[in-house]
Amino acid sequence: MSAKPILVVGAGFSGAVIARELAERLGTRVLVVDSRSHVGGNCHTARDSGTGVMEHVYGPHIFNTNNKVVWDYVCKFGSFHPFINRVKASTSRGIFSLPINLLTINQFFGLRLRPDEARAFIASKSDQTIGEPQNFEEQALKFIGRELYEAFFKGYTRKQWGCDPRKLPASILKRLPVRFNYDDNYYNAAYQGIPEEGYTEIIRRILDHPKISVETGVAWEDGMRSAYHHVVFTGALDAFYQHVHGRLGYRTVYWDKQDYAGDYQGNAVINYTEDSPSYTRIHEHKHFAPWETHDRTIVFTEYSKETGESDIPYYPKRLSGDLEILTKYRAIAREETNVSFLGRLATYRYMDMHHVIDEAMCFGSRLAIAIRDGGERPVFPNDE
Ligand code: UDP
Repeated sequence: MSAKPILVVGAGFSGAVIARELAERLGTRVLVVDSRSHVGGNCHTARDSGTGVMEHVYGPHIFNTNNKVVWDYVCKFGSFHPFINRVKASTSRGIFSLPINLLTINQFFGLRLRPDEARAFIASKSDQTIGEPQNFEEQALKFIGRELYEAFFKGYTRKQWGCDPRKLPASILKRLPVRFNYDDNYYNAAYQGIPEEGYTEIIRRILDHPKISVETGVAWEDGMRSAYHHVVFTGALDAFYQHVHGRLGYRTVYWDKQDYAGDYQGNAVINYTEDSPSYTRIHEHKHFAPWETHDRTIVFTEYSKETGESDIPYYPKRLSGDLEILTKYRAIAREETNVSFLGRLATYRYMDMHHVIDEAMCFGSRLAIAIRDGGERPVFPNDE
């Protein structure tokens, strides 16, 4: 390989993990740039100056995974406090437990069912005429029936995604479990926690390697390519190609931030699952760190909207028109000889932190072998 360094664009988990993999495996210099003034990407955390609460600056992140390799990896870079996300749903009929579990079912329908009875009861509510669900709504109607769907998913999903749930893939709903016991843990994951010193500190330590240098406040420009042996781009794929084939659809989220004395809502997250109010949820960040004590609190009321040109893209919509555009970008990207694309924005997928880390580790080792052998080709970590 040439003596040129490798460039990684983006200092979120994707960029940090692959930078570390390449630096360790190749012993080569790796420069990581990020247009923001900090590392951490959308996982960035920082102490709120007024209250001292650890703020999840781009929205709440709760680490959860079943992948022990990924869990061991992040734990090498910082200590995690156990944290179980116990979300509540605020509806016009009252406040219920999420994800849907036996407490939700019994309280919502005013019953006292045991697990098997609840399973049979929900089966009687479900739409048995639906074979393989073709969209979000069919998935809900098939597995939980219309009443629970309308109370907990229809309005929230319309607010969150800005479209009819029949336009969205069933896979979005499959993220959430339905339980016939009183387990109200939002995630089905063996390892769950929140880093004691925040995510940014974890990512800073991943990047802390003698072969890695980091420059923040530096935006990617196409002219940078020639100075590097290989570029790993973790930003938005359509932006990399100056949107020549149009824009990929994303939802963005934004917040109204307030601070109060004491405890505002008694829980980290409360979802507002019906059409009204217009916000989707309220998160109170000090409850993500129950091992800390703070007199005051910061509270974020979250709204969702289409991503405008100056907004941060969060959730890839992946509607059929988006997938057609994606195919065009992937085709030109595959022609690249020294650029690879990694992560949620560059592969245009709805990924959690643990997916991102796992993929960056695997792709990093593949790319390192390809670079060492001199016949580099890896462009995407995934087929599509
Ligand atoms: N969802 C919903 N009501 C809720 C929570 C989630 O309808 O109270 C739907 C919504 O469409 C959301 C999807 O389920 O996008 C997945 O939820 P999850 O909590 O995994 O979303 P994320 O954490 O990515 O925002």
